[in-house]
Amino acid sequence: MSTRVGIVNVNDYESIPKAVIGAIKLVEDVLLFDFSKSKQILLKPNLLTSKKDACTQPSFVEGVISYLIEKGVSMKNVSIGDSPGQQGKTASDVAEKIGLLEICEKYGIKIVDFERDLPIIEKIEGALRLKEIRVAKAIKDCDVLINLPRLKSHIEATMTGAMKNYWGIIQGGLKAKYHLLGKTAEQFGEVLTDNFSWIVKNKPNRLIIYDLQEIMEGMSGPGGGTMNKWDLILAGTDELALDIVALEIGKVKIKNVPHVKNAIERNLGIGNVENIEIYGMPLEEAKKQTPKFKVPGNTMTNFISYMTGHLAYKIIKKIPDLNKSKCAQCGECAQICPAEAIEFIEGNFPTFSRKKCISCLCCSELCPENAIKAKSRGLMGLFD
Ligand code: SF4
Ligand code: SF4
Repeated sequence: MSTRVGIVNVNDYESIPKAVIGAIKLVEDVLLFDFSKSKQILLKPNLLTSKKDACTQPSFVEGVISYLIEKGVSMKNVSIGDSPGQQGKTASDVAEKIGLLEICEKYGIKIVDFERDLPIIEKIEGALRLKEIRVAKAIKDCDVLINLPRLKSHIEATMTGAMKNYWGIIQGGLKAKYHLLGKTAEQFGEVLTDNFSWIVKNKPNRLIIYDLQEIMEGMSGPGGGTMNKWDLILAGTDELALDIVALEIGKVKIKNVPHVKNAIERNLGIGNVENIEIYGMPLEEAKKQTPKFKVPGNTMTNFISYMTGHLAYKIIKKIPDLNKSKCAQCGECAQICPAEAIEFIEGNFPTFSRKKCISCLCCSELCPENAIKAKSRGLMGLFD
């Protein structure tokens, strides 16, 4: 078994969109599907927060759109979606801030806010920790998924890239709940890999365009590390192989990245660089022109995972706060609450159990009347 990864140097092209098209062309003949026959093509960039550097660059999205237009795809069949890590923010909010909304409007592409989309409960066969996920309907329904990760250091996962970008398919604050299933860096790696395994089993038609043009590194990733230009774009159909190539270019050992290591053990893609066929720029050349990728060490990732899983999470997590003057007493919040923490009796206001609430804020995100705000649990959380 082998897979192909295309590598392009952005400086060989007039612009980033043109380099993106160049990268896709290196792998288009190994795609398992025909774009022009696809009815629902979903682009999944990384829209982590309103900070541009923490997200996939809008020019990458524009490159993919131009390629799809070249292939005769109607923009009615294309949408862009994500669920940001920043609580209370949607993909539309982030897209507006980073200049992606303009591009979507220019081409008439719909943005799907995953946390506002219908939740679909999916079992994950063979999962080690995350046995079930709730994903947005748009993810479940799409027939082609285009993954657009940006390479960044990650204080808990060492790095975030092709595999980790799918953490955003989980709706809103549920990410915080699922995060608790992994209290060490290794365990959190297993949770991320469980989530990725759902993608591998359920979404065979995938294309990945990996943003290595300007990467984020250091101890403050993935939200705000130091930016460094690598001027590279990778393309392929196998996230594991792409992450391995990115780590190889950045001279980071796989054993330091728990989710990549775990995905190799579970055969979730091509896990050996010898079986990756490189097209375009030779791997050795890419390595030579690229400095070492600065990522946090194992001690730091373990410490931060512990903090996130325990004390810090309890202090910073938020709880829902109902504004009765806005509430229409529809009961929708009680239906979607994953922790059954909301009681609703027809003709009354919903009531919230502080004890059962897992602070996912799905109720706040899905309330049609905007009647639920998030309020800080603060130090009191420690005593719950
Ligand atoms: S979903 Fe919103 S409007 Fe409906 S009952 Fe819950 S809080 Fe009230
Ligand atoms: S009440 Fe339910 S839906 Fe709302 S934040 Fe708590 S657990 Fe989530």
